[in-house]
Amino acid sequence: MRTIRVLQSLNRVTVCTQPSPVWSWSVAQARCFSNSSPERPKPANSVLRHLTSKIKSTGPISVAEYMREALTNPVTGYYVQNDMLGPDGDFITSPEISQIFGELLGIWCLSEWMAAGKPSPFQLVEFGPGRGSLISDVLRVFSQLRGALGGATVSVHLVEVSPKLSQVQAECLSVDQSQLSASEDEPVYRQGTSAAGLPISWYPSLDDVPRGFSVYLAHEFFDALPIHKFQRTAKGWREVMVDVDPEAPDKLRFVIVPAPTLASTQLLQSDEKRQHVEICPEGGVIVQRLANRIAGDGGAALIADYGHDGTKTDTFRGFKGHKLHDVLASPGSADLTADVDFSYLRKMAGATVACMGPVTQRNFLKNMGIDTRLQVLLKNCTDPSTRAQLIHGYDMLTDPIKMGERFQFFTMLNHSRLTGPESVQPELGTKVSLVPRKAPAPLPVAGFSELGLS
Ligand code: SAH
Repeated sequence: MRTIRVLQSLNRVTVCTQPSPVWSWSVAQARCFSNSSPERPKPANSVLRHLTSKIKSTGPISVAEYMREALTNPVTGYYVQNDMLGPDGDFITSPEISQIFGELLGIWCLSEWMAAGKPSPFQLVEFGPGRGSLISDVLRVFSQLRGALGGATVSVHLVEVSPKLSQVQAECLSVDQSQLSASEDEPVYRQGTSAAGLPISWYPSLDDVPRGFSVYLAHEFFDALPIHKFQRTAKGWREVMVDVDPEAPDKLRFVIVPAPTLASTQLLQSDEKRQHVEICPEGGVIVQRLANRIAGDGGAALIADYGHDGTKTDTFRGFKGHKLHDVLASPGSADLTADVDFSYLRKMAGATVACMGPVTQRNFLKNMGIDTRLQVLLKNCTDPSTRAQLIHGYDMLTDPIKMGERFQFFTMLNHSRLTGPESVQPELGTKVSLVPRKAPAPLPVAGFSELGLS
């Protein structure tokens, strides 16, 4: 369960923060990982066999390559093979814990669409929808508030790497039998229709999603993207890579490579203060593409994940059956994850968009009116077990030592959202504000400032 995920993670995040010479980093690292999983290594699985033979022929691989192979290899990857969410899986997420989470995110999407002047068509895009619970709760809000949506043409777009999970999402969201695309060359690989008649399309990547005004949601998506790991040494920054253990040929171990790599020369910032750093270039590229879309087509992105603002060091960890799992043991059989560095995402977004946050999940949900929503649901519910469940869910999401502070919310917005729209005056060729001097200031961005709802 995610409770365990959160609390156990907190127990181990400080282990590798001390400056450490090259030789002792591996020792400290081995200690944190060997403590984290009491299991003995399992016999080599096919991902492990593939990786060990690759390493033996071409040398150590980056942590990013290791993570990518373990999680999203098209045949053996963890996400490709499994439905890992829920009590019988490896972890549980906020939308699975409480319907209120998705409902409040639904309100957020609507409020950003309204603040943008209610453009139509309106695309709702989610990255990594898991079981589809979040988008299903968002769509229920859209149905309940369809009056507010007026005649807007709404469509749903899901970016999902896992065919297995896309099937689970289709069962949750589509009223009809969703259709798989006939050709692998199509950018859309599955299509369906929601209960309210909205078209739903599935894509392997953001590049395949049509351009146009969109609100993007990513909950627990960026933490699953591959990271590179770097260690500061007496000779400068060096990359931490994955190698075969010379004393146990079917086991992997971390090593610090002696010479700089392309990643260590390209990815690190010159003013970096930490001793150990994790960088997720794939996350950076997605954020840059999102920023370009939002700047060009209008819209907003809401990214929620466990993360930090450029302060943490070693956060790479594995989960299996709701317990911490040695990240290098039986790759492909466990969830691998690293905290999202929001300072890096902000840097990658650059000046193309306006960024806000990260703010804690507790503050975001409270600003969105979670207390009021809970009271409304409790007032309309007499069943004691459902009431207990609602209260438990609220507590899990907002308690600072459960999910309330570890999870963070970050948003990217079109600049006009905070400054008012601009246009080019044809005669003068200069940009002028369309907002008259006495026009009201743009509405505050829901969740990121107190709206006084509760
Ligand atoms: N957002 C959901 C699920 C989180 S698990 C929730 O909060 O419950 C991560 C999700 O991202 C899964 O659906 C997984 O299949 C998907 N995913 C992981 N890596 C991906 C990638 N590179 N591209 C697209 N989807 C990916």
